[in-house]
Amino acid sequence: MTGRPGAAHGAAHDVAIVGLGPTGATLANLCGMWGLRTVVFERSTAPYSQPRACHLDAEVARVFQHLGFEAELRRLLTVSAGMEYVDADGRRLFTFEGFERDPLLGWHEDYVFVQPELETMLRAGLEQYAHVDVRLGVDAPELAELRRTARFVVACDGATSPVREQLAIDLLDLGYDERWLVVDVMLHDPAVPPLPAIIQQVCDRRRLATFVPSHGNHRRWEFRLAEDELVPDVWRLLAPWGITRDDADLVRAATYRFHALEAERWRDGDLFLAGDAAHQMPPFMGQGLCSGVRDAANLAWKLAEVIEGRANDALLDTYEAERRPHVTAVTAMSIEAGRLIGRLAVDPTALPEPDRPDPTRWSRLPALELGAGFPVGHQLPQPDRLDEGLPDGWAWVAADEGFVAPDGVPVVVEPRATYGCRAVLVRPDRYVAAVA
Ligand SMILES: Cc1cc2nc3c(=O)[nH]c(=O)nc-3n(C[C@H](O)[C@H](O)[C@H](O)COP(=O)(O)OP(=O)(O)OC[C@H]3O[C@@H](n4cnc5c(N)ncnc54)[C@H](O)[C@@H]3O)c2cc1C
Repeated sequence: MTGRPGAAHGAAHDVAIVGLGPTGATLANLCGMWGLRTVVFERSTAPYSQPRACHLDAEVARVFQHLGFEAELRRLLTVSAGMEYVDADGRRLFTFEGFERDPLLGWHEDYVFVQPELETMLRAGLEQYAHVDVRLGVDAPELAELRRTARFVVACDGATSPVREQLAIDLLDLGYDERWLVVDVMLHDPAVPPLPAIIQQVCDRRRLATFVPSHGNHRRWEFRLAEDELVPDVWRLLAPWGITRDDADLVRAATYRFHALEAERWRDGDLFLAGDAAHQMPPFMGQGLCSGVRDAANLAWKLAEVIEGRANDALLDTYEAERRPHVTAVTAMSIEAGRLIGRLAVDPTALPEPDRPDPTRWSRLPALELGAGFPVGHQLPQPDRLDEGLPDGWAWVAADEGFVAPDGVPVVVEPRATYGCRAVLVRPDRYVAAVA
């Protein structure tokens, strides 16, 4: 690795990562894949044992595919049947429709999983990279020391981010703050008692709730609490669902404040914030972890381009410029998805406009704002595991053999992946950057 432009910086590492949660672990794997000399500091010795996230989407599964985890994902993920809003008796009031179709990106739109299992997979993946130095059970050094250790520092240190605190970066409040009780159980038998197969938002004015039929035997409930309410008995809350102590082991019951916060800036010179350190959103769309993985996927290849001398530092400014509007939009959708539970509990007829089916979109989430004109900013379709035949870096994907790249970038021919264009220019993170 010596002799390349990045080595001129003189630091022992190219990248230092603080925190090995899902964001830091994804980033560390990507840095490993890109050949960056990386050091990771994580104060825990094992992944956080209690599940938080239990939903992820196609874009996120594809990042993990790129990292070589496809076989593990087949074991750790269950395809989700989607989400519906129901009344107190479980009758459907509303659902998001219009995007269920063949998996355009090579993965289904929604999966459920058990977070500690996923984090174990990501940590195990790091063992293959001799140039990724993982230091478990240690607190990250002070900021000045971190900055001496590596050319770039990425704080993936979670919602309370000590790095963000040290930099005195404020959190902007996007206007949501509620108290909820999160209950996780492991059923003894996944079919007993029979429970809905779809994620439900329960619009019951006596108690707003969310139910998630998660992966394997894992089931999740979230119950809205009043500000001053004592935490109710969990088994009484679960009784209407037909669950007794004989049916399941209680994994945990913990109160959380669901809020919507965004760091006022995500870059401080050679240091970046990512994941919960940069943004937090209520979990009604299951997008917090997904957003952290997207941050990692967006930042990692840019760090590699700059460290290897193929791009200048200005490329790194595009990380926040691209990711922040996406996170802000997804947070707004998550807040709206949560507020809708309360509104429908009061008035079950106050239904929102249904989603209009749109052949140009793979999900309800927005594209990246990378430039004008469809399909710029969208992920490349992935027929027949196309990614396995793509170069790791930039590529043109063309509709026919006659296409000649204007810039020497490799060309792959796959007419099913060009959204009807002659050719699309694909970035290392599989987003379409331009069309020919
Ligand atoms: C109830 C609930 C449900 C959710 N559901 C979903 C969902 O379905 N889908 C989804 O996408 N998201 C969901 N989320 C959000 C998701 O869990 C988080 O966004 C995600 O876990 C954040 O990952 P992270 O790596 O950014 O931070 P964390 O997971 O918090 O990891 C931060 C790591 O940094 C370490 N650390 C901190 N400071 C230091 C230091 N100084 N030195 C060394 N190490 C340090 C910590 O030990 C920790 O391991 C949910 C959250 C909750 C609470």
